[in-house]
Amino acid sequence: MLLVEDLHKSYGDLKALQGISFEVKEGDILGLLGPNGAGKSTTMRIVTGYIPADSGRVLVDGLDSMNNSLQVRQRIGYLPEHTPLYTDMRVAEFLMFRAHIKGVPRRERKNRVIEVMEKTQTTDRAQQIIGNLSKGFRQRVGIADALIGRPRLLILDEPTIGLDPLQVRQVRDLIKDLASERTVILSTHILAEVEMICNKVVIIHQGTTVAADKIASLIDNYDEYAVELTLERNGASVDELKTALSIDTVKAVSDSSNSWENPDKVISFRLTPKERKDIRPQLYDLAKTQSWKLLELRRERVSLEDVFTLLTQQHADKAADTKETEPTVKADDAVSEAQASKPEAAKEEAAPEKASEADAEPAKADVETDGKTDATASADSDSPGDGSEQAPEADKDSKKAKE
Ligand code: ATP
Repeated sequence: MLLVEDLHKSYGDLKALQGISFEVKEGDILGLLGPNGAGKSTTMRIVTGYIPADSGRVLVDGLDSMNNSLQVRQRIGYLPEHTPLYTDMRVAEFLMFRAHIKGVPRRERKNRVIEVMEKTQTTDRAQQIIGNLSKGFRQRVGIADALIGRPRLLILDEPTIGLDPLQVRQVRDLIKDLASERTVILSTHILAEVEMICNKVVIIHQGTTVAADKIASLIDNYDEYAVELTLERNGASVDELKTALSIDTVKAVSDSSNSWENPDKVISFRLTPKERKDIRPQLYDLAKTQSWKLLELRRERVSLEDVFTLLTQQHADKAADTKETEPTVKADDAVSEAQASKPEAAKEEAAPEKASEADAEPAKADVETDGKTDATASADSDSPGDGSEQAPEADKDSKKAKE
């Protein structure tokens, strides 16, 4: 349903994206992973039509997002990294307003708001001022907003960031629930979150896709099928045991004893097989013939974290090799340059991206609502709008603040 092909994007001299490609199929829950500044939010912003790419293309249901921006945006619900909400509005009032902005026909708005509040379990907060809600509930309202246009593709930028552990769990459960009815892409730094929620993963590093696969296949590619074996020592020497363990299917044996076990009594080894096959059955038979007291025989599973670390490190090493010949900027020079440059120049540079986002501030006054769930908000048009996310951009320049 979504095809992202070779996206490139620069902000001034900074090459934020240098070739991002991946595919999302109907029903996928895709985790977009990457270190800070890797380009996740930029990718999401391009996919959702917030900002244009310099080159490359995005197809949603075969529709090119540049040529069919309206239809594409109607298919997508987007929760930006910093949930853009009007904190002085009430929950239901805000959602009615957003339904209007997104072109939900007037007669459907009330039911749509009720529907998304039920889905996000915010119904009992309908009359609460958004500014008084906890962060977890604000996030739910942000998700309710993303759902109001009944999008088939939901894009969530770091949906659990800044939440307490209980709220994190609740929002994860909510995402899993929502994913049963639609395709979801979420970005996060939390690898465990991706393992818990997603079936597919795209790893981005320095603006490039370094992996895009099903989580299970990706992990399996890097799995050595290593086995951890622990037995009672019974007076045998490490070398004797190592020799006995070096059967024909085993490539390497190393001592991996735990410091908390008594080394005179218990010993552990890590064995890697010659072929990527489970060697536990042979090791079990060996233990029987040797009359060893086997305490543990466990297949070591590579984690997504191991794969992520390995791939991003490999990519960083490669990038460092190619950069080796380029001059490095010293911190002193950078500070002097920054002092010399005028603030106006910085403002000018940021202006092109900002303009479209600042324009998005909606005219709140044209929505009449009594703030109740059953309010008949006066939207002047019943015609479907462009479904675009016009209001957001409270997140507009948190990026720069962060930097
Ligand atoms: P994080 O995990 O920290 O949110 P990210 O993977 O989402 O990072 P992006 O926010 O896409 O990364 O940023 C990629 C690079 O582009 C960073 O170096 C960032 O500083 C830069 N960048 C992002 N937005 C802008 C902007 N509007 N103007 C200038 N530079 C930007």
